[in-house]
Amino acid sequence: MASYNDFYWSKLEKGELWLQFCPACKEYIFYPRSICPHCLMGDWEWQQLEGKGKIYSYTTICVSSLPEFANDVPYVYAIVELNEGIRIPANILNCPLEQLRVELPLELMIVNKGGKKLPAFQPAKD
Ligand SMILES: [Zn+2]
Repeated sequence: MASYNDFYWSKLEKGELWLQFCPACKEYIFYPRSICPHCLMGDWEWQQLEGKGKIYSYTTICVSSLPEFANDVPYVYAIVELNEGIRIPANILNCPLEQLRVELPLELMIVNKGGKKLPAFQPAKD
């Protein structure tokens, strides 16, 4: 496994979300990869994200094709816009369906899925 993947997963294990950031074009990079998908430069750096954002778009999954999530249905899969500007896909947890709306303020939580830590989000408490 490439070292940039190792770094991403090891930070999630500690409850932190770090993404690659490209100084050349000032864009965050998700998912981890060897070169910036925006400008193709390879000299990116790691930055820790605050872990706060809002729902950009979402859908409710009633039948999952992913075995790891089969017992979780119905669950909410969203595109989360982080305060830093990048949008990443993640599950929304601890949120009653009637509370769901675009722009809902969110905070990061880390969930354990099949022995692996994954980023997810829940409604912000403050
Ligand atoms: Zn770039």
